[in-house]
Amino acid sequence: MACLVCGQEGLSVELDVGAHPVSTFFLKSQDALENAIGLRLGQCAVCGTIQLVEPVPHTHLIAPYDWIFSREPEEHLDDVAAGIVRDTALPKTAVIAGLSYKDDTTIERFRTQHGFEVSWRVDLKSDLDATDANANIETVQKRTKPETMANVAERHGGPADLLIVRHIIEHAENLRDFIHGCAALVKPGGYIMVECPDCTKNLMLGDICMVWEEHSLYFTPATFENVMSMAGFNTISVGNYPLPFENCLVIVARKMSAPRPHVVSEAARAEIGMLKRFAAQYAPTKRALRAHLERVREEEGPIAIFGAGHLACAFLLYYGLSDLVEFVADDTPQKQGLYLPGARIPILPSAALVERGVKLCLFAVSPNSEDKIAEKNAAFPAAGGRFASILAASKRSIRNAIAD
Ligand SMILES: [Zn+2]
Repeated sequence: MACLVCGQEGLSVELDVGAHPVSTFFLKSQDALENAIGLRLGQCAVCGTIQLVEPVPHTHLIAPYDWIFSREPEEHLDDVAAGIVRDTALPKTAVIAGLSYKDDTTIERFRTQHGFEVSWRVDLKSDLDATDANANIETVQKRTKPETMANVAERHGGPADLLIVRHIIEHAENLRDFIHGCAALVKPGGYIMVECPDCTKNLMLGDICMVWEEHSLYFTPATFENVMSMAGFNTISVGNYPLPFENCLVIVARKMSAPRPHVVSEAARAEIGMLKRFAAQYAPTKRALRAHLERVREEEGPIAIFGAGHLACAFLLYYGLSDLVEFVADDTPQKQGLYLPGARIPILPSAALVERGVKLCLFAVSPNSEDKIAEKNAAFPAAGGRFASILAASKRSIRNAIAD
């Protein structure tokens, strides 16, 4: 199978987590019909990049609701913007552009903190002709192609001096089109900032919750650093900003030459085999988690999960644990009365943790949010419940209880 990055027929399939519904397709009734999509992960034996063997077509990912959005980490953006201003020495008249709504807050930093006045951002409706009211990042990635983006650049007065591209490259269904599409938005000699999650920690910890139907690519610093070279970019810097779940990788690169073949580093080659080791932990962890949660339910009482999103779906569906969990606690108003895709368990307000006598509540949220949620729900431990986390990277990880 052809690799999304280097294009070689080097992909070896290492992990199959089964076929599951898309995690934004919340159910209106417990027995509503669902479509399942198979998710298999492979690693390229040529360039080392870990990826979905069959990226999910973007049309399958358009959510049936208009209130779905994702929040990306922003703590590091002041530093990133200051670093770019310093390293590129762009004049204040330079044009800063962004590819999706996720780039607005970075562009804002260039404006307010560094005095850049000219900016624009690719618009889903007016630039990309998206007609579906719920179209989102999946449609932006799909329509980021050289011809489309050459027209978009023209409409905005020409390609930009700096293009911001945060947390979308890992969604690319066709990475080559995507990268060449981004390049069409950048002037010759101009710069690009590309950010994505660093999967290293979850790969090392064997955390299957990293796998998500919306992410076709699972980069590490080594497999990410040269990825823009195929569109003629030279990498100037690679930043790695630590976060509890997934670090943020940030490349700044300059458009210097014609497109050229992808460069595979020694470090990337050294990672070949990483996915096989990751996949080897899947079955034993699945067995141990099931045994542990069955025991908790029998000896202590009901189990709930906190956070109705793709992490909860990943944990319950890939590990096959839905039958052991009563409900998902989530206070998002739009999710009340709906059911978690695949797991078919109800979504209830967090007050239900106490009301229903839950004994173990598993966080399925970013570890940064756990303390705040625990504090807000202090009545739960006071009533005899305890919190743990589904994530291996959390200090509250449920893995701690199955370690031996
Ligand atoms: Zn490859």
